[in-house]
Formats: sequence, C-alpha cells, structure tokens
Amino acid sequence: MTIWEEIGRLSRQFRKEIRSVRVVRPVSPKVIREVIESEFDFTRAVPLVELVQGVAKLLEDYSIHVTHPRYFGLFNPSVTEAGIAADALVALYNPQLANWSHSPAANELERVTLLHLARALGLDVNNMFANFTTGGSEANLSAVLVALAHKYPQVAQDGVAAIQRQPLIYLTTESHHSFVKIARMSGLGTRSLVEVPVTSSFVFDTEALAKRIDEDIRAQRDPFMIVATAGTTAGGGIDPLMKLADVSTKFGAWFHVDAAWGGAACLVPGLSAALTGISRADSITWDAHKFLSVPMGAGMFFCRHREAVRRAFAATPSYMPPRVDQETFDPYSATVQWSRRAIGLKVFMTLAELGTDGLVRLLEHQIRMGDVLRTRLRASGWIIVNDTVLPLVCFTHPDIRERRVTTTNLLEAVYDRGKIWVSDVVLGAKERVFRACITSFWTTEEDIECLINEIEHARRNARQSL
Ligand SMILES: *Cc1c(COP(=O)(O)O)cnc(C)c1O
Repeated sequence: MTIWEEIGRLSRQFRKEIRSVRVVRPVSPKVIREVIESEFDFTRAVPLVELVQGVAKLLEDYSIHVTHPRYFGLFNPSVTEAGIAADALVALYNPQLANWSHSPAANELERVTLLHLARALGLDVNNMFANFTTGGSEANLSAVLVALAHKYPQVAQDGVAAIQRQPLIYLTTESHHSFVKIARMSGLGTRSLVEVPVTSSFVFDTEALAKRIDEDIRAQRDPFMIVATAGTTAGGGIDPLMKLADVSTKFGAWFHVDAAWGGAACLVPGLSAALTGISRADSITWDAHKFLSVPMGAGMFFCRHREAVRRAFAATPSYMPPRVDQETFDPYSATVQWSRRAIGLKVFMTLAELGTDGLVRLLEHQIRMGDVLRTRLRASGWIIVNDTVLPLVCFTHPDIRERRVTTTNLLEAVYDRGKIWVSDVVLGAKERVFRACITSFWTTEEDIECLINEIEHARRNARQSL
C-alpha cells in the first residue's frame, strides 16, 4: 500500500465512522508520554506507512475530537474535505507567499478569496487591505499595531514611550484575552486596557463607554481604540456595532471589530443584520478556521487604512526580490509574518467547492441546530442565560443555582462517559454556567438529544448521591 492510499483510507474511515468514536478520552500526561516513548525512540527507523498508522492511532485515541458532531465546544469546527485537500496541496508545493513573485498563483488565490469575503462584510474593496493570518490573535495584533502606526506615526521610530498621553483601548469583560497578550507584546502594557461593563445581555454598555471616555479625556488620557466583539467567546454576544462606530467617530478612536467567530454571520441572509455597522470598522478580525469550517489556522485581517499598514510593516531588504508592480503587494512587507504559508487556499477551495450558497447552507444548518438546542433545553427544565442569534447556548439549572450540584462535577462525569464534549464558563463575571456551541455541520437533532441526555444523566446521578 502506498502512503497516499493509506492516508486516503484513514481519512475516509475516520470521517465515515466518526459517530462511533469517543469524543473525549481523558488521559494523564504520564500515560500519553509513556505510550509515545514506548513506540518511537528515534533510534529505529520506522517505515512511513507504519508511522502514519501509529501516529493516526495516537491522534485518534488521545484527542478531544473537535470535528465530532457531538463536540459542543469552543469554536473549533468540523472541517471540509476541500480544506483538508488544500492543506495537503500546500504542503506538497510549499509555495512561499512572502513575496508576490515567488508564488503568483497562491497570492492571487488568496486575494480573490479575501475580496469575496470583504464584499460580504460590506467593505469598499477598492480602498482596503486584507491578508490571511495564523488566527484571530495575529489579526488582533495586526489591528493594534496598525492602529498605533496610524494614530502615532512617531512610534515607528521612537517607540510607545514617545506617546505623550496614555493611549487607551476600550473593550469589555467579555472581549477575547488575546488583547491582554497584545497589550504586553505591543509595549502598550495592560494598563492601556479599559474593561467597560456589559449590559444584562453581556454586550458593550455604550453609555458606560461614553462616560468613561469623557472622564479619561478630562484626565489627559487618549481614547486610542475601541474593540467591539461580534460573537463573544463565552456567550456569543454581538456588541452594538453601529453605536460603537458612532462613539469611535465622535472621539477619533480606531474602531476594531473582533468577529473571529461571528464574522460568518455576514454571509447568512437571515443573520447579516446582526452585524450592521461592521463595514464602518477601521479594521476587522475574522477567523476562517472557526465558523467557516476549514482546518486551523486560518485567520483574516481586513483594514481600511493601507497607508497605516505600510507604515506598520514595510521593510526593504536587499535579499528579497523586488516588487512586481503597483497592482501587487509583497506580504512580508505588509504583514506580521515573513515566510508565509498559503493559509488561504483552504478557504478558497472550500468556497469554490461548495459555492457561497453551499457554505451558507452549512452555516444555516448549525444556526438551526442552535435553536433546537435552546428549545430542547427549556423543555427539560434548564434556564438559558445568554442572548444571541448565533448557535451558542449558555445555560444553567436550579440545581446549579441552588448549589446542589456544580458544573465542574457534572462535566467530570460527562467526560468520563466520552459521548459528548461541552464546557462551562463564567459569563459576565457572574455565574458559572454550561456553554454549548454548535461547531459541526454534521450535528443533528439526535446529537443534541444526546447532549441533553448526558447532562441530565449526570445531574440526576449527582442529585441521587447527595
Ligand atoms: C478565537 C478568538 C480569538 C483568537 O483567535 P485564534 O484564532 O484562536 O488566534 C480572538 N477573538 C475572538 C472573539 C475569538 O473567538
């Protein structure tokens, strides 16, 4: 058997039989290390087919299977076959996207993909910049660096210490914590982050924001950037983008929308209204490796200020081939990365294989499953505590609120059985609740039934043993 036949067989089998695979099999670091070291010690040369089989078995036995239809987890999706094929082609040809002239095909395949998605976001494609990133974190980092270059041109040379008034980035308790790392990486420091309270729906309280900005201006601080989230990690909330765009305009702050997960809503006719205002953003983060169902890592960064992008990332070393013409750009000199993988090919191939309509049908299916989950939970006596049109449901139970059981104990029991994966989260710094997100286009009503049965089973057992 050739290596490719074996990989083909493995992928067909895994995808076909995934429902019979445990979603989760808890394992200790000690055990997994022993298993690996007993099989592979780098002294014996392992024939490649055997190696592929051995590694596939390890991955299959000791992973939380995020592509599983009963993984109700963080935003990790089931992946399209086109996405898998694209990643294989990328590894085969290993195109170097750092500069345009090394890989005209891959660079242009990415460009048409980004333009298509930028149009869906409502951006003026003649007047913007976009690139693929490793993920949302890199896209958010790009946003802060470009915003700095835009607002404080002197920083390029003199560093953030040259900024006279303390620059502030406004976000909320529900914003993604990549901004904490970015505050450190950028040299701004975490003191630059202002956590504004959320409303009872766990989204940006715009009145509290305007009040806070007024105070900061009076105290000689600089409202530098407002970060809205479209699809928060904990509760899937979408901040009021239009109002936040207004506040940003009023105070001259950079308006960034972190739509890492929720950005896909712009493709869905019944949902795009929830993102109204996103086209006013100065920059946008959108991850294809979340709701667009391609393998990790594929983030996207969109920005309306080409000149600021150039200021943030331009470099002109003698060892890189010269730029081809004004119509093209060299990613090494316009983005965080240097050597660059063809990240966008899996998005291109997914869109090309399914067509936009086909992709939208996958999204709509998952959104419908989110509604089914809400209905079924309520019917079983659970209480829904978040408020979003996206397929993410946070829920609790009187037994949890009255402290007869905890989410932690119930989750332990659920993971032990391995039929589903779901998590818990503290929403709005208030209470610890269950969090279930539909992230698989394979999830069916029976899978949702299974989720409810598993949690109910754990809850009843825990109550009985009181
Ligand atoms: C996932 C996520 C991020 C981080 O993106 P990565 O792709 O994991 O780097 C940032 N913001 C939000 C809202 C996210 O959902």
